[in-house]
Amino acid sequence: MGLDRSRLARQTGAWYAGPVTPTVYVVDDDPLVTESLSRALELETDWTVRAFNHGGQALEAMAGAPPEVVLSDFKMPGMDGIAFLSRVRAREPDAVLLLLTGYADKESAIRAINDVGIWQYVEKPWDLGDLLVKIRQGLERRALVAELRKKNLALEARLAELERAHVELVRAERLAAVGRVASGLAHEIGNQLALVGYAEAIRERSRDPEVAEFAEVIVAAQRRLAALVDEIKDFARGASAQYPREPGDVAAAVEEALAILRFDADVKSRRVSLEVKRRPLALIHRGKIEQVVVNLVHNAVQASPPGGEVVVTVDEDEAGAKVTVRDRGPGMAPEVLARLGEPFFTTKERGSGLGLGISRRVVDEHAGRLDVRSQVGDGTEVILRLPGLASA
Ligand code: ADP
Ligand code: MG
Repeated sequence: MGLDRSRLARQTGAWYAGPVTPTVYVVDDDPLVTESLSRALELETDWTVRAFNHGGQALEAMAGAPPEVVLSDFKMPGMDGIAFLSRVRAREPDAVLLLLTGYADKESAIRAINDVGIWQYVEKPWDLGDLLVKIRQGLERRALVAELRKKNLALEARLAELERAHVELVRAERLAAVGRVASGLAHEIGNQLALVGYAEAIRERSRDPEVAEFAEVIVAAQRRLAALVDEIKDFARGASAQYPREPGDVAAAVEEALAILRFDADVKSRRVSLEVKRRPLALIHRGKIEQVVVNLVHNAVQASPPGGEVVVTVDEDEAGAKVTVRDRGPGMAPEVLARLGEPFFTTKERGSGLGLGISRRVVDEHAGRLDVRSQVGDGTEVILRLPGLASA
């Protein structure tokens, strides 16, 4: 009975800690010793006692019924007590080990205490009361160690949790600070940009073709800056802003995004193909999802060599809508992959480094997922998933 309970405790990951009846192995080559010892222990305690006359047999039995306490003779033919107990120690790191010795072997026994991790040695002939005290103290210590180990594990788990929370907090703080600075800058730049808009009037009114040409360059720069300012404002708006979502055709949003991109200079020199396998419905803010797809396809196109192909696929599985953007560009090195979505991280001369970060947030706000698979030399695949409603 006690045996089963201690096994149960082991299987459930708990250590013996008091209330379970311990199993005690008594090992001595002399059957008279094992018999008298086990009888005495059984009379005095409710422990489960098992007797063996050879260390090897005891080791075999341990697989099925691991002991909490092992009491072994020192001098035995074949495997002696120290060899036997060190093998027990290797299998049962928490077992309480006691060595029975004659007076002459005391010195070796004392050495074994340290080498093998033996709890106590007991001199033959033993005093039963003394032996019981030693075993009980061993069990108490074992329970204490188990308790400490449990507490330590719990503490370590808490510590890891705290560390994670701290890292997250620092990251959030940094993002918020970057957002505040960026937002202030974006507003100021936006105001000034309105004035740069006069370049358009200059271009229209100037009769001098050279002036018109310069003005055109300024107009183009103004448009790029205005787009950047919009992107930064969008980034800085934070995750708090709410916007309505309604059931929408995801494939239609993708088609619309590709239509917007058709006039993009980078897109014009590459092929973008769309394969609609199914037309999933999802709860979306259509404009936001279009923006995400525009960002992803834009990245894919910019990574592709002129003439290269970007394949966009719309599909649906049990989880919902799935939009895949695949390019055969250079792929991303692990250092780049690790920093994806970090605000202002870009490897492009004219990149804002905001596209993926904003996309990630929009996807989060849709309870979706954005997975990036990329390998240097083999291009990139970005998978956008949105929880689905039902197939349209
Ligand atoms: P930006 O496009 O303005 O640089 P993003 O946030 O969209 O900002 O992307 C950040 C960086 O991620 C890019 O500069 C680029 O290094 C890398 N990246 C994104 N998409 C791809 C892709 N399809 N192939 C290779 N690199 C990519
Ligand atoms: Mg981008």
